Amino acid sequence: MFNIYFIKLANPQDILELPIEYVKGIGQAKGETFRKELNIHTVYDLLFSFPFRYVDRTKFHQIMDVKEDIDLIQIKGVLLSLEKIKGKNNRYRYQGIFKDGTGSMELVWFQGGNWLEKILKPGEEYIIFGKVTLFNGKLTMAHPEMELVKEASTLARTFEPVYSSTEKMNAKGMDQKFRRKLLRQILDSIKVSDIPETFPDYMMQKLRLCNRFEALQWIHFPENETQKEQATSRIKFEEFFYLQMRLLHGKMLRKQKFRSLPFSKIGECFNTFFKEKMHFELTNAQKRVIKEIRADVARNTQMNRLLQGDVGSGKTIVALLIMLIAIDNGVQCCMMAPTEILAQQHYESIKSSLEDMDLQVAFLTGSVKGKKREKILEDLAAGNIHIIIGTHALIEDTVVFKNLGLAIIDEQHRFGVAQRSRLWYKNGKFAPHILVMTATPIPRTLAMTLYGDLDVSIIDELPPGRKNIQTLHQYESKRPEVIAFMHKEIAKGRQIYVVYPLIEESEKLDLQNLQDGYERLLQYFPMPKFQISVVHGRMPAKDKDWEMQRFVNKTTQIMVATTVIEVGVNVPNASVMIIENSERFGLSQLHQLRGRVGRGADQSYCILMSDYKLSKESRERLSTMVRTTNGFEIAEADLKLRGPGDIQGTQQSGLLDFKLLELTKDRPIMDAARNIALRIMENDPNLERDIHLRIKKQLAHLFSKNRSWNVILRS
Ligand code: ADP
Ligand code: MG
Repeated sequence: MFNIYFIKLANPQDILELPIEYVKGIGQAKGETFRKELNIHTVYDLLFSFPFRYVDRTKFHQIMDVKEDIDLIQIKGVLLSLEKIKGKNNRYRYQGIFKDGTGSMELVWFQGGNWLEKILKPGEEYIIFGKVTLFNGKLTMAHPEMELVKEASTLARTFEPVYSSTEKMNAKGMDQKFRRKLLRQILDSIKVSDIPETFPDYMMQKLRLCNRFEALQWIHFPENETQKEQATSRIKFEEFFYLQMRLLHGKMLRKQKFRSLPFSKIGECFNTFFKEKMHFELTNAQKRVIKEIRADVARNTQMNRLLQGDVGSGKTIVALLIMLIAIDNGVQCCMMAPTEILAQQHYESIKSSLEDMDLQVAFLTGSVKGKKREKILEDLAAGNIHIIIGTHALIEDTVVFKNLGLAIIDEQHRFGVAQRSRLWYKNGKFAPHILVMTATPIPRTLAMTLYGDLDVSIIDELPPGRKNIQTLHQYESKRPEVIAFMHKEIAKGRQIYVVYPLIEESEKLDLQNLQDGYERLLQYFPMPKFQISVVHGRMPAKDKDWEMQRFVNKTTQIMVATTVIEVGVNVPNASVMIIENSERFGLSQLHQLRGRVGRGADQSYCILMSDYKLSKESRERLSTMVRTTNGFEIAEADLKLRGPGDIQGTQQSGLLDFKLLELTKDRPIMDAARNIALRIMENDPNLERDIHLRIKKQLAHLFSKNRSWNVILRS
C-alpha cells in the first residue's frame, strides 16, 4: 500500500479525522475550497459525502436502441471518419461518424480545434460516452468522452459516482473526475479497521446488513445494482437507527434526571368543573388521550408528551382538564401560545370556562407592562395565580413561579426544542410536566424523527355534529357567482374570511393584490351597509388587534387578510373561507386556513380561487384539499409533494439532515430501525451489555459531534 497522506500519523486510526489538505492531491488551496464550498474538513467528511446519483457505465447501449435525451450513455464502436466543417457563421466544427453493429450516429465538437485531429484516429475502436440529442434530425453526441477500447480494457466498468459540487469547485479543477480519483485513492488506502463496525453481530445477521467498510466502498463505487442497494440501505438504516437511539436514550436520561411532582389525586377543581361546567360530552378520542395523559402525570418522572389533533378536534378542553388536575395537586400551570392573539383567545375562553370557580387566571405577553406586569409577576411568585396564559414572554427569566407543575405549549412547531426546555428549569427541584399541542398532523415517519423523544397522544375524532366543510375549487371566471354566494351567506348572518398569500420575496406585489381585492370587495359590499376588516402582517399590532376585534364582535362581515389569521383564531360565526391565489399556498397551510371555519353549527365552505394555469403540483394540492378534510391524509400528501425539508418548523431542528434517508420512501427501514432501537432501550437502557459496546461507542462519538443533541439534553 502506498502512502497517500502528506504527514505521518501518530496513530493510524486517526486517518478519518485527518484534515483533508494532508491528503495527496488536495493540499492547502483545494483543502480551503472543500471547506468553504462543501463544508468538508476531514477525510471522514469526504468519505461520508455520498454521491447523489450514479452514471451507469456497466452497460453499453446499441445505436439502434438509442433515443434522444436519455441519460448519459456509453456505446462501443468504430470512429469511421473525422472532418472539419465550416458552419454558417464561419465557425469550424469537427464532425465524426461513429458506427456499431446496429447503426451509425454523428459525433460533433464545436470547440477543441486541431488537437482533435491529432488525438482521434479514424478506423479505431472507441468507447464513447455522453448525452445523445437530435441535431438536424440526426442522433448526435456532442463533445463525447472518447476512450480507445484497447486502452480501456483494463478499467473496470462500474457505476460512476456523481457528487454535489459547486461552480467554484469546477473552476478550480475539482470536478467529478478529480473527486472520483480522490475517493478511489482514499478508499484503496483505508483498511477495514479504519471503518470499524458500529452494529453488534446479531443485528448484522438479523437484518442482513453489509458491514460498514463494505458500505463505504460500495456507496462510492458500486460494481453492480446489488452493491449499490446494500450499501444504500445499510447507510440509511444506520442514519435512522442512531437518530432513534439518540432520541430514546435522551428521553431515558431525561427521565432519570428530571423529577416531577406526581399528580396522584383528582380533587375538587376537576370534579366541580366536570360536573357543573362542562357543556358537552367528551369524544372517545378525548377520553382516551386524557387517560393517557393522566397515567403519565401520575408518575414522578417528567411527562413530555405531544398531543396531536386536527384543528377543531378539541385540544383546549383536554388541556384545561389536565390543568385542573394539576391545580388539585397543588401546583401552578402555564399555557404558552405562539401569538398574542391566540394567547388572548385562550385566556378569555379559559377564564370564562372557570367563572365562579375561585381560581386565578392571568395573562402575560410582551404587551403587558408596568404596574400590571409587576403585580402579575409578584402574584405568580407568591403562588396566588393558578393558571397563567401567554406567549414566549412566559419563558423569560423574570417570570418566576412558586410551584410550576404543568406547562402546556400550543402549536409546538413554532417553538424550538431549546425554548421548550427552558420551561423545565422554572421550578428548581422539580421539572414541570410538559404537554405540547399541535394542530398540524404529522406523518408517522416525520413524527418518529421530530418527536421521537416524546410520547404521543392523538385525537383522531372531531366532536359530534360538525358538518363537513364543503370545499370547492373555482377559477377567476366564476368570480360573479362567488360574490353572489358571499351575499347570500352574509344575509344569513354569517361572516367570511378572504385570505391573500403574502411572501417576503414578492411582498409589495402581494400587498397590492390584497389592497386591490379589498377595493373590489368594497364595490360589491358598499359601506355603510357592509363593513370589511383588513389585517396583514405589516400593520402595527394595535391596528391589527382592533381590526380583528371588529370581526370577532361581528361589526364587520368580511375579513380580508394575509395568513396572520392562520394560527388558531376562533370565530365560530365565520363559516366561509375564500382563499385567493390558492395555488400559491402549501397544503398544510391551506388545511390550517380551512380550519378557521367549520367551528360553529352552520354548514361551512372553503373556496379555493386560482388561476387557470396551474402546475401539476398545485393542481394536486388543490384536488387533495377538495377530496379530503382529514389532516393526516393531507399531511401525508404534503410530505410526498414537498419533501420533509419544507414542512413547517422542521428547518431549525437539524433532525432532518439525512444524507440518504428519504422520509417519503423509507418507511420500512425507519420502522425497523425504530423498533430495534426501542427494544434495545427496553432491555439494556444504559447499554451496559457487551453486545452493545459498539453502539455505545458510536453514540458517544455522535454525541460529541452533534450540537442539536446537546440542545435536547441540556444536561
Ligand atoms: P383545537 O383542537 O383546534 O384547539 P378547540 O379546542 O378550539 O379545538 O375546540 C374547537 C371547538 O369545539 C370549541 O368551541 C370547543 O368548545 C368545542 N368542543 C371541544 N370538544 C367538544 C366535544 N367533545 N363536544 C362538543 N364540542 C366540543
Ligand atoms: Mg387550538
